[in-house]
Formats: sequence, C-alpha cells, structure tokens
Amino acid sequence: MDLGIRGKRGLVCAASKGLGRGCAEALAEAGVDLVINARGAEALNRTAEEIAAKYGVKVTPVAADITTDEGRAAVLEALGGQADILVNNAGGPPPGMWTDWSRDDFIKAIDANMLTAVALMQALVPGMMERGWGRVVNITSQSVRSPISVLGLSNTARAGLTGFVAGMSRQVAPSGVVINNLLPGIHATDRADSLDAGVAKAEGISVEEARHRREQTIPTHSYGTAQDFGATCAFMCSQQARFMVGQNILLDGGALNVTI
Ligand code: NAP
Repeated sequence: MDLGIRGKRGLVCAASKGLGRGCAEALAEAGVDLVINARGAEALNRTAEEIAAKYGVKVTPVAADITTDEGRAAVLEALGGQADILVNNAGGPPPGMWTDWSRDDFIKAIDANMLTAVALMQALVPGMMERGWGRVVNITSQSVRSPISVLGLSNTARAGLTGFVAGMSRQVAPSGVVINNLLPGIHATDRADSLDAGVAKAEGISVEEARHRREQTIPTHSYGTAQDFGATCAFMCSQQARFMVGQNILLDGGALNVTI
C-alpha cells in the first residue's frame, strides 16, 4: 500500500533500537526523511546510516536525552523547528513495588513518559496545524488498558498522557492533524529481554523458560516484532489514517482478553 507520505519529514524519538527503530524503518520505507534520536551516539549513528542506505531517505541522528529540555531543544533545532510526523517514545520506568516509589520517582517517570511527549507536541503540532497536515503517534503501553502491577510508574505516567491526548487530539483534528497512541504488548526487544531476566531471577528459572511461559499467555504464542510494530505506526502516520483520531491502538497478539 502506498501510504502517501513520501517526502514528508518526521521525528522518531528513542529510535536507535527496539520499537522506535521499527517505526523509523517503516516510515523510511514509506519515503519519509527522518530525524532520529537516542542517548548513545554510536548505536544511533549506525542505525541512521543503515536506514539511510537501505531506503534512500535522509536520516539525521541527534544523540540526546529526549526527557531533558536540552535534548528536546537539540532535536527541534535539527528539524528547523518543524515536522510533519512525530513519533514520541522514551525508555520505560523501572519495575518495583508500590511502597518503594518516592515523589521524585513519580516526577521522573511523568517527565519521561508523559511530559516529554506533551512538550514535543506543543512544539511541533502548531506548525502542523498551520500547514494543515500532521500525524503524531505516541508509543505508550498495554498497561494503559490493563495494569502491570510491578510497572506502577509506567501505569501512572502513561495513563496521564492518554488522558491529555484524548482531549487534545479532538481539538487539533479540524486542522488536519491526527494524533493517536500505539500500545505495545510484549515485543521482542531489549526491554522485553530485561523484563524476562527479572522474572527468571525472581522465579529461579532460565530466561528462555521465562520467555516461553510468557509466550504461552499470548494467543499468537509469540512476541511481536519491531517490524510488526513499525508497520502499524507507519499506517497511523499515513494519508489513509485521516479518520483515526484520539484512538489507543493495542498491538498485543490478543493477550488482553476482552470483547472490545
Ligand atoms: P528498547 O529496546 O530498550 O529501546 C529503547 C530505545 O530508546 C533505545 O534506542 C534507547 O537508546 C532509547 N532511549 C531510552 N531512553 C531514552 C532517552 N531518555 N532519550 C532518548 N532515547 C532514549 O525499548 P523498547 O522495547 O523499544 O521500548 C520502547 C518503549 O515502549 C518503552 O517506553 C517501553 O517501556 C515501551 N514498551 C515496550 C514493550 C515491549 O515489549 N518491548 C511493551 C510495552 C511498552 P539509548 O539507551 O542509547 O538512549
């Protein structure tokens, strides 16, 4: 399918690997010139070179912590202050117990997984509205639909972003700007590996056994891939997604056992 976005300019945050990279690759395949971001310069530069060589688009890497004011300023400068497509992403907060988290832990999680996305939308969406076209995808989590107790910081911050987007997406839709959230279930990335390693340690089993057990809880009996995720993200940034507004698209292999 031609997504109709060849020649658009996009920002994909936290994209040197994992789900962010999957989104960057699928957008590049659709012909989108990109600014991509992560903290570690080496992996980021390599990813940028690989994507540019494979898809023949312009890919500008900006090594910065997207959860800081300086990091966002560096990324916005590389974009010349405007983009047609924004994919918000950042690392997830650590697991823990509800009794352990301090106010500072909550502020850090809310900064990273809610207010960073809000700040980038505030910076880039006004330009999209002026030009009459824009697409924003916020990578959140399945935990927005069904809480993961040990990821209480994530449950909290992402629920806040979801509430904000529910209202804002409807305010900007008349200007041709389409904003939605994409909710990953379990995908095979380093993040999933580290969560599996945590379960393996807690239960005294191998990481492979932890993964196998978790796969069996998913109707597909497999984890999603960054390619699955990227393809969905690219569709949500396409011309064809014009009528999809303020939605929370759950990509989890059917793991959440609900009717609607
Ligand atoms: P990942 O494989 O660990 O990749 C994370 C990417 O984000 C890396 O490129 C990393 O590079 C970058 N990054 C992390 N913190 C950053 C920051 N502060 N500023 C800029 N870049 C940053 O993780 P993933 O699995 O793709 O997960 C992406 C998001 O989806 C996370 O928020 C995660 O919690 C959420 N999620 C994932 C799953 C899953 O199954 N994979 C499920 C639900 C939710 P650097 O380390 O070099 O910065």
